[in-house]
Amino acid sequence: MEQLIAKAAWDLTNSLHAIALTGAGISTESGISDFRGPKGIWTLNPEAERRAYRSYEKFVEDPKGWWEEMLTQPRASFLDSLEAAMPNPGHYALAELEQLGILKCVITQNIDALHEKAGTKKLLEYHGSVAKLRCISCGLRFRRDEFDLANLIQENQLPPHCPECRGIIKSDTVSFGEPIPSDVARQSLEEARKCDLMLICGTSAVIYPFANLPRRAKQKGTVTIIEVNADPTPLTEEGISDYLIQGKTGEVLPRIVEEVKRTKK
Ligand code: NAD
Ligand code: ZN
Repeated sequence: MEQLIAKAAWDLTNSLHAIALTGAGISTESGISDFRGPKGIWTLNPEAERRAYRSYEKFVEDPKGWWEEMLTQPRASFLDSLEAAMPNPGHYALAELEQLGILKCVITQNIDALHEKAGTKKLLEYHGSVAKLRCISCGLRFRRDEFDLANLIQENQLPPHCPECRGIIKSDTVSFGEPIPSDVARQSLEEARKCDLMLICGTSAVIYPFANLPRRAKQKGTVTIIEVNADPTPLTEEGISDYLIQGKTGEVLPRIVEEVKRTKK
């Protein structure tokens, strides 16, 4: 492990355009469960999974009803755990790598806004963020509190409309069946093409199209792909990653940062 951490620090320090990809695993140490693990939300509540799959279809058919349901149904405990969560040392380590000028971009599948809270600036939230809403026509994003949702439901004025183009507003989080917003999809692909180092943290990389990003980067041939994960993943098994540092992101990433700082002096 020590040797791999030193190797990762050396690779990062000598990269020209390093980016990180993250998934649910980087946030488990902040108390947010994953979906499909042994204690995952959907493992424990299959009905919630069925509802999630129907959600986008429902939004397209009846945005008013979708919003009313969102605002009146008892909130899933998952959403509560997201709002209460705080970043952990893994998130802060990536923010520090950016401050050191090494990491150029973080692309996350997580919707928990924890990279933003930890201070990462160049962030692409591939599946959106619970902290934001998005216009489905022009793609503009808004902070949730820019809309008085409680008042809109009382006044029977749901769904919210975009102040710029009058389009319908949806939560920014990408539902099953919903296309990835074109701006993040395009920029993520550009980053995957441009990078010479990809640090993949806490994702099993099985959900597409996100899972294409490491595969696209690998096709170039001139990229170093490092995984930090509790377990081997399909990327490890298919030889997409060059090496795996097996452990918790909250422990391994800060050690990599320490090593980068020690050798940079
Ligand atoms: P996943 O559950 O498929 O994979 C998580 C990976 O992280 C696993 O390989 C697991 O072994 C590993 N892991 C767990 N804890 C770890 C730790 N402390 N350190 C290192 N590795 C750890 O997650 P995914 O690939 O991100 O796919 C899940 C999907 O569900 C994504 O689309 C994501 O948007 C969504 N999701 C998001 C959140 C969140 O926002 N925090 C939480 C659950 C699910
Ligand atoms: Zn708009």
